[in-house]
Amino acid sequence: MKKVILIVFAVFTALPMLAWGPEGHRIIAQVAYNYMSKKAIKNVDKVLGTHGMVYWSTWADEIRSDTVYPNSYDWHFQDLEAGMSDSEVAAVMTDYPAEGGNLYRALDSLYLLLQKDKNNRDVLRFVVHLSGDRYCPMHQGHISDKGGNTIKLKWFGTQTNLHRVWDEDLIRFRGYSVSEYAQLLIDMYGDERKAIEQASPEELLVRTYHITDEIYAYQQTWNGNVYNYVYRWKEPMERQLYTAGVRLAMVLNELYK
Ligand SMILES: [Zn+2]
Repeated sequence: MKKVILIVFAVFTALPMLAWGPEGHRIIAQVAYNYMSKKAIKNVDKVLGTHGMVYWSTWADEIRSDTVYPNSYDWHFQDLEAGMSDSEVAAVMTDYPAEGGNLYRALDSLYLLLQKDKNNRDVLRFVVHLSGDRYCPMHQGHISDKGGNTIKLKWFGTQTNLHRVWDEDLIRFRGYSVSEYAQLLIDMYGDERKAIEQASPEELLVRTYHITDEIYAYQQTWNGNVYNYVYRWKEPMERQLYTAGVRLAMVLNELYK
């Protein structure tokens, strides 16, 4: 296995921060796979195996338990301060913050590595995964609550936290299989594809940050009813998954053209 050499600063925390859960990452990869060019599919399949992109989209979370990439823990998120202006948020993509994670620095480094060596399986698996994490609202949650990990809440009587609700609980509640959900997103949000492709990365980050702000505000007034929560948030959550899939396809179509 070729080791990825990246200069990153690991910020370890005792709390779990896994990003979109396995379903989320697989759905994103499946949406992207639908939107990839024949050439990109052929090349990516050659590196990861046929449909391997969907299977391997969760590898970056699994490898966190190994010692091969000890610094990769904080590549999955970039928590931010509350109350930042749009321009401050947009600047995060280039002036990587010293605190709160390393998502944007890691992604930039990984893109460069992949441009130089398109057959690097590990780098491709990281890119597929982290390209999804960047659209998970609680992955730009607040530094003060570790991206919602310290905000406890009950989901049908089971203890969970705000971070996990967005990684997994909301998606699971919908009850679709990965392929069903990917198709549903394409059917429901396909009209928005062009606008998503034309948006700048900074615009998309700012949009995600605003959603995160609204999630925090809603949390203050939420009555604890899970059905109300799902009703309020399913569409924003689905749009983020769909956006991640569209943008991942763009990246791979460009890299493997
Ligand atoms: Zn992740």
